[in-house]
Formats: sequence, structure tokens, C-alpha cells
Amino acid sequence: MTNIDTTLRSFIDVAPDSHFPIQNLPYGVFKTSSSSTPGIGVAISDQVLDLGVLAERGLLAGGELGDGEIFREPTLNAFMALGRPAWTAARSILTTLLRNDEPVLRDDAGLRDAAFHRQSDVEMLLPAAIGDYTDFYSSREHATNIGIMLRGKDNALQPNWLHIPVGYHGRASSVVISGTDVPRPKGQTKPPDADRPIFGPSRLMDFELEMGFFVGPGNRLGESIPIAAAPDHIFGMVLVNDWSARDIQAWEYVPLGPFLSKNFATSISPWVVTMDALEPFRCAGPAQNDPEVFPYLRSPDDRAYDIHLEVLLQSREMDAPDRIATSNLRYMYWNVSQQLAHHTVNGCNARPGDLYGSGTISGPEKHERGSMMELSWRGTESVQLSNGEERKFLADGDTVIMSGCCEKNGVKIGFGEVRGTLLPAG
Ligand code: CA
Repeated sequence: MTNIDTTLRSFIDVAPDSHFPIQNLPYGVFKTSSSSTPGIGVAISDQVLDLGVLAERGLLAGGELGDGEIFREPTLNAFMALGRPAWTAARSILTTLLRNDEPVLRDDAGLRDAAFHRQSDVEMLLPAAIGDYTDFYSSREHATNIGIMLRGKDNALQPNWLHIPVGYHGRASSVVISGTDVPRPKGQTKPPDADRPIFGPSRLMDFELEMGFFVGPGNRLGESIPIAAAPDHIFGMVLVNDWSARDIQAWEYVPLGPFLSKNFATSISPWVVTMDALEPFRCAGPAQNDPEVFPYLRSPDDRAYDIHLEVLLQSREMDAPDRIATSNLRYMYWNVSQQLAHHTVNGCNARPGDLYGSGTISGPEKHERGSMMELSWRGTESVQLSNGEERKFLADGDTVIMSGCCEKNGVKIGFGEVRGTLLPAG
């Protein structure tokens, strides 16, 4: 495990509470009001560094990066496909260019003018063209909570759960960027006391606090990614809110799992924090010796990450959001390397830009439950808001905000936020 370089400073001022110091340098795709095409950028402080401008000047060329033209693409897919040596090379070049003792960018006012935009002036877009989206169910606490509610305490975890990183294929077409409004979906539900289902807007709308990772080079059909090589295929991570309609889910999920209750919207944060930036926060995950996991799922080293997570909710009536839950990625029973190794062990191909969701990240404490379903214990308890309102599930006009941050020796590596507002059914 590497330590964080606390001596590193940029010539760009970074406020102490910023998620984006020079030690982070997450990638995103943005559009300015004057540009006709999207560009690739890196977040530093409250700025976006436009990599297209740097590439045009030849500042991002050489070695694994070739002529640097991959940074003039409208998505990160081509850069993701290049693999870890290229990611490390780019990080090294960008770190040098942004250092306080490096004059190339610092002392060139014209170049700085062209290459920096205020984050508040740009529109963030999806960072990649997402070909496939897979969602796991990897939090033991979440699976146990849901299992107790649906099947009782004695059968909370399904017999396969401690052997298999359970997942399902989601829908890539409805992955949306933070800030996108989400209309309440309509569908079939069956009230518990009714003989037949009814059709209409979902009445049990929920969020799911998740994180996701983007695939790098990936694997060819018929081959697999061994767990030891998984880090070479994981580009970086984002925050994920996997919106869920619990009443639609309850009626449709037997026998093939969730379908329309999950695939209407999945919101992600715009900045992809690289695994290189997260390396100082790699840590041990939960013990996996009861039962022992199959050799193909055994991590050769620590593969969990210590990332503090928060969920905030703001109703239409509120002036500021309330924090309603906290959690941490380190609670996940199955880590990102295990998820990728498992997903490809049968020869299924993962491709650059594919998105993998962790599943809802709940912790052991009551305030560490990553969904309204758990916070309200299936609607039997109320979540109190500071203005006197209460919630069992989400109401129209509610804005859900998730944020994530790691901190070590005074340096914050953050994800910013993912936010979305639930609109009335259309
Ligand atoms: Ca989910």
C-alpha cells in the first residue's frame, strides 16, 4: 500500500474541503457553452483542466499514450482501453504539469486561459459510452436486511450468497449523469391484500447507495480475467444511485430477478476517480473463511477500499438537505476484483467503458443503511426530516444526494456527488 504524498502542491489553489486536490485528478467528460463537441477533462479544485487543449499542444504525447489523440475523443473509452501503464503515464504527466514548481502551464497565461474552465461553467456528461451495465448485490448487511424483511431471520441470506458474488444484468441505456431528473415509474404492483395486480405509478420509490467501477481493457469472449489481473482492468470508480421501485420489484422479481423496477434510471457522479488515486485507501475487507471462497475468487492481497459515503435528502419544502445515512465501501463482502473475476470466469467478455455497480452498500449500524427500504424497515418506521416532514419512501420533488470521500493525513480524495430529483409520474 502506498502512502499519500502530502507534500505535493499545485499552483491552483485548493480549498481544504475540496474533493479534488492534485493527489486526486479524476477524469470526466464535459461541454462548455461555446463548444460543439464534448471534451475530456480532469478536475482540480473548482476547475476543469481541458485535456483536449493539452493534447493539441503535444503535452500529453509519448510512450503508452502515443500522440495523445485519445484525449481529444468525446468519451473516455479509448483511454480506458489503453490499460494501466497508459493510465499511470497520464497521471504522472498531469501531476507534473499541475505542480507548483513546474512552469510549463503555470507561467503560460494564454495556455492556462484556454485549458482551464470553472466547473460551474461546464456541463458534465457521461464519462464513457457504457456498453453494458451489471449490478451486484455484494453487501452482506444489505442482503441480510432485505432477506430478513422478505423471508425472515432464519433464511435471510440465500444459500448461494457467501459463495457467489450475486449480480444481474442491468440496463446501460438508462444510466444518467448526476443532475438528471427521474420521473416516478409506472408499472404493475400487487398490494398485499389484493387478489390481482394493479397498474399505476410506483408508490414505494427508493434509492440505492452504491459505487460503480469502469472496465479498462477487458477480456475477449471465451477468456477470463484472473483475480490477480483484475486491477489492470479496473479504470476507476464513481458514485451510483440505483433508483428502485420496491413495489414493482416485489411483484416482478420471481423467478428471474429485478427488471422494470430497476432499469428506468441509474444515476452516476461525473468524475471517475482512478484506482491509482485510491491506492492509499486500499484496505482489508470482511473475512471470507466461513465458508472459504473458491480459489478463483481469492484475493491475493487487500482489495477493499476505505471510502466514506453519505446520503442526503432534500424535500421540496426544505432549504437545505438532511443527512439520512452514512456508510463505507469497505463493508462490502465481495470486492471489485472479485466481481470482475466472477463476471468473466465463464468467458463473458467485459469491454472498455462497461459499468459495474456494487449493489447497495449498507453497514452494521442502523444509520448505515443504504436504502429507504432498510431505513424505514419496509415502511414500518419513519425517517424524520429536520423540517418536521417524515418519509418511509421517496416523495415527488425529493432530491437525493450521495457523496463519497477518503481522507488520510489531511488530504481528501473525493468523488463529488451524484444527485437527482424524483419527479411525479409522467
Ligand atoms: Ca442496485
